[in-house]
Amino acid sequence: MGGSQWLSCMKWLRNGVGEFDLIAQFFTRSVKRAALGVGDDCALIQIPPTQQLAVTTDMLVEGRHFFPEADPYRLGWKCLAVNLSDLAAMGATPRYITLSLALPEADPVWLSGFSSGLFALADAFDVELIGGDTTKGPRTISITAMGEIPPGQALRRDGAKLGDDIWVSHEIGGAALQLFYRWGRTTWGPEIPAAQIEALVLRMEMPNPRVALGTALRTIATAAIDLSDGLTGDLRHILKQSCCGAQLFLDHIPAPQILREKLNGPERALAQACLLSGGDDYELIFCAPQSARERVRMLLQALSLNGHVIGEITSGDCLVVLDAQGAEVHPPKSFDHFDA
Ligand code: ADP
Ligand code: MG
Repeated sequence: MGGSQWLSCMKWLRNGVGEFDLIAQFFTRSVKRAALGVGDDCALIQIPPTQQLAVTTDMLVEGRHFFPEADPYRLGWKCLAVNLSDLAAMGATPRYITLSLALPEADPVWLSGFSSGLFALADAFDVELIGGDTTKGPRTISITAMGEIPPGQALRRDGAKLGDDIWVSHEIGGAALQLFYRWGRTTWGPEIPAAQIEALVLRMEMPNPRVALGTALRTIATAAIDLSDGLTGDLRHILKQSCCGAQLFLDHIPAPQILREKLNGPERALAQACLLSGGDDYELIFCAPQSARERVRMLLQALSLNGHVIGEITSGDCLVVLDAQGAEVHPPKSFDHFDA
């Protein structure tokens, strides 16, 4: 903590739990893999000589990435999930995280929920929290995640080859549909079961990073990316870096039942936007040779994922989306923070 922050920090101390108590109470746990965890000026980690370190950071800002009233447990989970999703998209095995937190106040109830959600997912993937930074400010959460991968096996964006299948790991569009509902742009029919709606909310608030799939794809996939900003926008990153084009088939894209129904009804344009440009799905898009199709299918099945081939890598640099009748569909733009 810098000296200039002392004044505001002292006020914070008077109001509730202090900075160092907060770190000790909510974010300090013993570590087994790291040589040194939270509590010193730096953490210490030893990378096995056979591995490269994959490093990624994602930041979530209140009002931008999550609602002020977001459930703290789910938020803690999601902040870590979006980072593990980046490691999964690279094929890396998650190992360590650091956590930088800006909070308007040290609310123990919020902190307890947030850290429980974060550690629930960290434990599920055997990831250690080894350090971070804590300051007062508008609620902002930034996690850096580190994972291991053997040299040469990372799933980069620049490896897609002409003729490759383009896969999506599971159903997409549900998170965006749920957001359109919250914004009042669509409604649920009275016949839609509450469990189906809650499943969409969970897609948005507690995504499941596809880590097991990512690591299994190391020797199969030619390129991969995780879906955070929307299918067409994220796929375009692969196309640009691999110097190729793609053809996608709208009706091959796996989607939740509610979205599927909207695709065939009067809200078709909204449903297409969810599928092609909706963000926050955190599924993987990956490319693989057609010869690997059966292997990938079995892998997805073993992981209980409803993944599909949704298109093919083509020459040129165009991304063409076709509907079931073979007519071209023009998707709205995917999310861009400085172009919204
Ligand atoms: P310094 O002043 O040396 O930067 P800090 O006072 O910021 O150290 O932090 C003390 C220790 O607590 C460090 O080991 C730091 O990595 C850790 N830490 C601070 N905030 C967090 C947090 N939100 N989560 C995990 N560890 C944290
Ligand atoms: Mg510090």
